[in-house]
Amino acid sequence: MVAIAATNLVKRYQDKLAVNDVSLDIGEDELLVLVGPSGCGKTTTLRMLVGLEPITSGTLRFGEKVVNEIRPKDRNVAMVFQDYAIFPHFTVYENIAYGMRARHENRALISERVPAAARMFRIDHLLKRKPRQLSGGERQRVALARALVRDASLYLYDEPLANLDAQLRHQAREDILLLHREKGRPSVYVTHDQSEAMALGDRIAVMRDGKIQQIGTGTELYDQPYSRFVAFFIGTPSINLFDAELRNNNGEIDIVTQAFTVRAADEMKEKIRGHIGRPVTLGLRPEDLHPPRNAPFPVTAENTIHGIVNVIEPTSTGCTVYLTTLGAEGQDFIATFKARLPASYIGKEVPLAVNRRKIQLFDAETERSLL
Ligand code: ATP
Repeated sequence: MVAIAATNLVKRYQDKLAVNDVSLDIGEDELLVLVGPSGCGKTTTLRMLVGLEPITSGTLRFGEKVVNEIRPKDRNVAMVFQDYAIFPHFTVYENIAYGMRARHENRALISERVPAAARMFRIDHLLKRKPRQLSGGERQRVALARALVRDASLYLYDEPLANLDAQLRHQAREDILLLHREKGRPSVYVTHDQSEAMALGDRIAVMRDGKIQQIGTGTELYDQPYSRFVAFFIGTPSINLFDAELRNNNGEIDIVTQAFTVRAADEMKEKIRGHIGRPVTLGLRPEDLHPPRNAPFPVTAENTIHGIVNVIEPTSTGCTVYLTTLGAEGQDFIATFKARLPASYIGKEVPLAVNRRKIQLFDAETERSLL
C-alpha cells in the first residue's frame, strides 16, 4: 500500500533545477533509500518531503491528502540529521523527550517511552549527561532514540552516519534498521554511499542531476541496471567499463575492445543485434572474472581475456586483483577472486574467464543498457 506519493516534484532555485520531475511512492512500512553523487538533489527532495523547502511544482500526498501547502510541524515527520541536531544545553533525557513535549504528549507516556528508547539504543546509562559528554556514536543514538519515541507519519534520515567512523557505522546501520522495524512506518534515507544504500534499502532510488535514473531493489539495480551510470554507481569495486564495438561473426556476436574480444551470450543476441557495427560500452563486474581453473562454467577462447597483474590485495573471502589489459593502450581493471592468488603473479600475464551471461552492454551515446 502506498503511504507517501510524490508526483512530478520539481524544485527550481532561480535558474538551477535542483530536483527535476521526481516521482516516487513509499510503501506503508518501506525504507526507501535515495542515493546519488553530491549535488544530485537528494537533500532537496527530502526537504520538500518534510516541508522545509516549498515545492515549485508537482504533488506530494500523505495517504489521500495533498500536503504541498501543509507546514512542517503539521506534517508530523520525524527527521534524523547528519549533525544529529541535538540541543547542547539539554540532557540526553530532555533531548529524547523534546519532540513529545513539544507536541504536549501525555507525561506518563513520555516517562515510559524515553527510558525505553534509551534502553533500545544502549544509552540508558547516559540519560543525565549533556551532549558534549558523549561520543559521536552516542550522540547519534540520542538522535535515533528521539525519532523512536515519536509516532510520525514519515521518518526521514539525512546522511545520519556520515560523521561516524567505519566501525561505528556498521553498528549504527543495525540501529537504524532496528528503529525502522520497530516503527514499521514509511521511511526515506538519503546517502551518497551505495554500500549503505544496499545494506538498508527495501528499494533504492538512484539520482543523477535532479532526476531519478532507476528505482528498484538492490538486486534489480545490480543485475539489471538501467544505465551505465547506475551500473557504475552500484557495487564495490565498481564494474569495469571498456569501449567496444559489436561485430557479427557467422551468426554469433563478438564484443570487440581494443585489447580483447568476448562473445555475447546466446540469450542476449536478440536484444543487441540492432547495434552491430555501433560503439557500445562493455561492463564486466569484478566478481564475474574468474581464474580459469576455478571458473564455474566451461572456459573457451570466446570467454577468456588476459591482463597483467599489478597488485594483489588479500580480502576476507579471497583477493582483489588490480590488472591492466594487454595492448598499446593498456586499461586498468579489477577482478575479485574467491581464492588467494600468490604474490608471484605480480607483473605476470594471467588469463581470466568471463562469465558471459553476466556481461553488461550500454549504448555508447545514450548510456542506456541494451539488455
Ligand atoms: P550532497 O550529497 O552534497 O548533500 P545532494 O544530492 O543532497 O548533495 P542537494 O543539496 O539537494 O544535493 O542540491 C542539489 C542542487 O541544488 C545542487 O546543485 C545545489 O548546489 C543546488 N542547491 C541546493 N540548495 C540551493 C539553494 N538554496 N539555492 C540554489 N541552489 C541550491
